Amino acid sequence: MSLSFNGVGMTSQRTRDRLVSILREQKIKDEKVLKVIAEIPRHLFVDEALASRAYENISLPIGHGQTISQPYMVALMTQLLLEGGSVTRVLEVGTGSGYQTAILSKLVSNVFSVERIKPLLDSAKGKFRQLKLNNILTNYSDGGWGWSSKAPFDAIIVTAAPETLPTSLLEQLIDGGRLIIPMGEKGKQELLVFQRVGDKYHKKTLEKVSFVPLLNGKIA
Ligand code: SAH
Repeated sequence: MSLSFNGVGMTSQRTRDRLVSILREQKIKDEKVLKVIAEIPRHLFVDEALASRAYENISLPIGHGQTISQPYMVALMTQLLLEGGSVTRVLEVGTGSGYQTAILSKLVSNVFSVERIKPLLDSAKGKFRQLKLNNILTNYSDGGWGWSSKAPFDAIIVTAAPETLPTSLLEQLIDGGRLIIPMGEKGKQELLVFQRVGDKYHKKTLEKVSFVPLLNGKIA
């Protein structure tokens, strides 16, 4: 049996709206982002056994040692990405469940998403088809190198944390473009925003975060 889009009980619209009010009380002010969070059925992106917890403001396991990001973090990173002005082409490194990808697909024209774990990517692609999200292009590869054949991007969002900055990502930004990335070793990560200005990059440090590590290579 597959879960319905609309949901009932713990996956109902009322439960989703409650999550939105929690995000609103935090730092999420962008109404476009809040509207999409209320719209996209997060329960479809987690295992059915966890569906009743899908609208809690927490990260949840998605298998293969990975997690679906906390809604607050998805909303914050999306808000930071849109603050840069007109954003049409976005690269996401770390498709995972596909939830962040789906949120982005409702807000920008083209989403390019890269994932190194094949079963996760295949499952995410199934969700994009189910939700008829047709502006997402995915790639099964190590996204630490970005996606050079599709570059440049207006913004790049990385949903796993490297210990040092992958500079090839910066090079794939347009002038004025933004990279939103968690960085640092486990327990010491911070969320960073880099904005490209000509050949220079302005760096802003936001808050302490906790992401799975950005790893090299692919897993079949
Ligand atoms: N946005 C996702 C986050 C998933 S966790 C969601 O909310 O579901 C981070 C993801 O990044 C994992 O799926 C992990 O496999 C992936 N990842 C880690 N290193 C990567 C790399 N070098 N290239 C592509 N994906 C990577």
